[in-house]
Amino acid sequence: MDFKTPRYIPMSRRRRIYEGKAKVLYEGPEPGTLIQHFKDDATAFNAKKHEVIEGKGVLNNRISEYIFQHLNDIGVPTHFIRRLNMREQLIREVEIIPLEVVVRNVATGSLATRLGIDEGTQLPRSIIEFYYKNDKLNDPMVSEEHITAFGWASPQEIDDIMALAIRVNDFLSGLFLGVGIRLVDFKMETGRLWENDVMRIVVADEISPDSCRLWDIKTNDKMDKDRFRRDMGGLVEAYTEVAKRLGIVADGERPQGSGPVLVKG
Ligand code: UDP
Repeated sequence: MDFKTPRYIPMSRRRRIYEGKAKVLYEGPEPGTLIQHFKDDATAFNAKKHEVIEGKGVLNNRISEYIFQHLNDIGVPTHFIRRLNMREQLIREVEIIPLEVVVRNVATGSLATRLGIDEGTQLPRSIIEFYYKNDKLNDPMVSEEHITAFGWASPQEIDDIMALAIRVNDFLSGLFLGVGIRLVDFKMETGRLWENDVMRIVVADEISPDSCRLWDIKTNDKMDKDRFRRDMGGLVEAYTEVAKRLGIVADGERPQGSGPVLVKG
């Protein structure tokens, strides 16, 4: 299939497939493709808190593009094909597995509270948790037993998802460490991608400061969505700083293509 020259479909005539809290999915230019549109909406606490933060969608589109393109380049399969414009990317249509996969490297949030671990403690090994994607139920944490019993994923698929989660975590930890940022934890989603009769699990959705906890190595400043959740302000500035350090946007704000900027310790 030729993804280089997509048929142009005016925005108004595009078929909307799905609208989520921070993104909209439209029908893509070819069968098996979709367009993922990043909105400026920020939500937290199961959408009880909602705000429009101008510029967030543009930044997440760029940061997520950068991460997914690099994952593709190192052989971690994702749904990402290419970025189309400021707010949109072309992706492969997948069947989303209804699980949020959270990987934790440092204790914070519910892990610290529930288990009485000091906030900020480096974990002895990365921990993978699964949450069942269901807003009505508040995305409850589930075990592998629940996942297989209710048929959300097979044991083989769970193994594949965990292997992907470890690879994504290793890649992201190194990427962010190189630019002076600690990857505390993140959430990823996966989907089933069919190619002819073969199915494989790929990384889907987005990976951005909306779905990661990112702390500055030196100051422990939060550079992620916790700034919104905790009413700290400065969200766009923090996301811009993440993009700048990764070399995605330069000081003048216009997106550039240079590589990551090494932060000396
Ligand atoms: N996360 C997310 N979307 C969600 C839930 C969590 O992106 O719907 C991310 C969140 O940004 C953080 C990690 O997953 O990086 C763990 O968040 P969680 O909500 O589980 O918070 P905690 O339990 O640590 O308070």
